[in-house]
Amino acid sequence: MKYVIGNWKSNQNLTESLIWLENMISLAPRIPLDMQVILCLPFTDIASFNQKLSETNYPIFTGAQNVSHLAPGKHTGEINSHMLRELVNYCLVGHSERRRDFDETCDDVAQKAKSLLENSITPIVCIDLPYLDQQMKSLFNYDVDVSRCFFVYEPLAAIGTGKPVNPTDANHVAHQIDFLIDGNTPILYGGSVTSDNSLSFVSQNQIDGLLVGTDSLEPTLFAAIINSLK
Ligand code: PEP
Repeated sequence: MKYVIGNWKSNQNLTESLIWLENMISLAPRIPLDMQVILCLPFTDIASFNQKLSETNYPIFTGAQNVSHLAPGKHTGEINSHMLRELVNYCLVGHSERRRDFDETCDDVAQKAKSLLENSITPIVCIDLPYLDQQMKSLFNYDVDVSRCFFVYEPLAAIGTGKPVNPTDANHVAHQIDFLIDGNTPILYGGSVTSDNSLSFVSQNQIDGLLVGTDSLEPTLFAAIINSLK
């Protein structure tokens, strides 16, 4: 199975998200059976987007981009895993923008992953080399079942810069991650992926798919990535 995951970040309101979906359906009406497409949307879009997906039978899955590390309770404004479990199958955790802009720690990420798994949501754990070992240590300390997580190697210098890393270097890091988790869990690459370089990453033996930021916002570009892997 190959995975293509879109990350809209803090973009697209509800109206825009539904227009995006209409366009995607016409540009990529068929998703190959050996490919899973997951779109990580803003919280505000998810419920209506899901509704539209079920009306159109379009076979993509939805994910969130973040979740609270806290359990339900007196935490004004927080969206927790229990709330998300009715809406999504997946959730990003530890994206570098959250580590950088919201001081998210490896322990926070581990707690989020744990609560997601307890609510049957697959955590998509984003990591870069400077904190790879620390993140794994935290996941093990919090007893997170890493065999039920996805991992994405996202080198900071490649995110949103138009400068992807060399696919063989990304594959090398994916092997390192695989060695640490010692399992069969999907390992993806993210960072300036376009339809011109997508296949060069996915054809590496340890890279199971892609996390796409910028090019997931524009249906023509996202559909081109999907079509490039067919
Ligand atoms: C990301 O933010 O996860 C990402 C991979 O962004 P981009 O594709 O724009 O580099």
